[in-house]
Amino acid sequence: MEKMHIIFDADKCVGCFNCQLACQDEFIGNDWLPYTESQEKHGEKWIKTTRHERGRAPITEVAFVTEMCRHCQNAPCEKAFPDAVIHRDDGIVLLNAQKAKGNREIVKACPYGMIHWNEERQTAQKCTLCAHLLDEGWNEPRCVQACPLRALSVVKCTDEEFAALTAKQHLKPLEPGSNQPRLLGRNLYKVNTVYIYGAIVTRADGVERAMGDANIVLSRSGEFITSAITDFFGEFKLDRLPKNSGEFELTVSVNGVEKHCQSVFVGEECPDVGVICID
Ligand code: SF4
Ligand code: SF4
Repeated sequence: MEKMHIIFDADKCVGCFNCQLACQDEFIGNDWLPYTESQEKHGEKWIKTTRHERGRAPITEVAFVTEMCRHCQNAPCEKAFPDAVIHRDDGIVLLNAQKAKGNREIVKACPYGMIHWNEERQTAQKCTLCAHLLDEGWNEPRCVQACPLRALSVVKCTDEEFAALTAKQHLKPLEPGSNQPRLLGRNLYKVNTVYIYGAIVTRADGVERAMGDANIVLSRSGEFITSAITDFFGEFKLDRLPKNSGEFELTVSVNGVEKHCQSVFVGEECPDVGVICID
């Protein structure tokens, strides 16, 4: 049986909020029963985009994460409220519009905060993956259709085919756990890992000059971890390091000759090793 799967790419999302606007356009003021009642005009966001910063000036990076209901295979909301949750054969998880009415407790059943309370209608609500449109023959929900950079996409395939795609494209859940979300992310290292950054200079006659093409190697206990080459400005970045991964050795070489070695501690934030002079 083919199921719907959602892929988010953190390398493509620019935080334009088109997906959110499309969702609001589709659901505010429109009852799509029996799928869902209309979304509240203010306060509810069935899809949301958050901004994440890494590093400090001058080497900073901003990335965005867009998230919605994960349409979990092993859904905690379904376990907590089996009568109020509909798990369709195509993988889409819906709230039963009648049984969600007046049931504030359902909101707490989603560990990701993706079930919302509609004060006007006194009902619990969430992303339906535009099931009303898919059932009419649409290939994708409004948020995906509206994304100008294809940071969001949907794939309809069997779970086995999606498992193969997940392995091939290194897709990951947005958070760890055993709920088996159908929303997976690509390039999530942009928000959940850190990088070491710095710059290499040489000094002659009291003048510092940026050192391009220097080879920066990160290792631990003699084992190679990653490397980078300094750019025209002498700057480098060693990316995709797990947060709180501890102590490493950083070595700078030029034309195969080692010029500098120091230890670097990787904690919660991106370590800045500053400007290293290799006279
Ligand atoms: S993300 Fe939350 S609301 Fe969606 S299926 Fe999983 S537990 Fe339920
Ligand atoms: S529309 Fe696409 S690029 Fe824009 S915020 Fe949403 S996911 Fe990101």
